[in-house]
Amino acid sequence: MTYKGHLALGYAFSLSPLLLFDVRNYVLNSFSPFVLVCSFIAIYFFSLFPDLDEPKAYLSKRFPWNFISILLSFFVDHRGITHTLIFSFVFPAILAIILYSFNLLDKYWICVVVAWMAYISHLIGDSLTKSGVKWLYPFSNKNFHLLPKKLTFRTGSFVETIFTFLFFLLFGYEMYLFYTPFSHSNLHHYFHLFL
Ligand SMILES: [Zn+2]
Repeated sequence: MTYKGHLALGYAFSLSPLLLFDVRNYVLNSFSPFVLVCSFIAIYFFSLFPDLDEPKAYLSKRFPWNFISILLSFFVDHRGITHTLIFSFVFPAILAIILYSFNLLDKYWICVVVAWMAYISHLIGDSLTKSGVKWLYPFSNKNFHLLPKKLTFRTGSFVETIFTFLFFLLFGYEMYLFYTPFSHSNLHHYFHLFL
């Protein structure tokens, strides 16, 4: 899957809990707009991090990630260990440790949650393609596909563009729900935060 597909799915999937009325209220009442912006930035990077194992990937060509990518690709194969369930905890754990060491984890823990979801969204995205993902590697070499074989697509194909568009629409709908005051119960708090 291309980086555009991963970003669209990353945002749509990581923000999908916002489809629930109670979650929207909880998030708006519990986190400052700045924490929410940080969560947005986290989704961007973590939905692309698994492809740091491939030096030609979008993020791998950009500073400072290119250094991590060169180092990683030296040790691992593309769509190897970075595309596994067990490794999905590594980068979010590093983020959690950094936040904790600055005493910020209490306030910013939501960033770690969406970071992990964004990472998982990447594995989901690649599981829609023909090559699939070995989610349980190194415990199992089984290649997992989330679609029937006939519906899987090649990276960069027209079908992927359609999927990307649909993910983008879902993301737009989630944002619409989140930023429409009438979809929250606590209007007063909403205005207090944003005005
Ligand atoms: Zn990938």
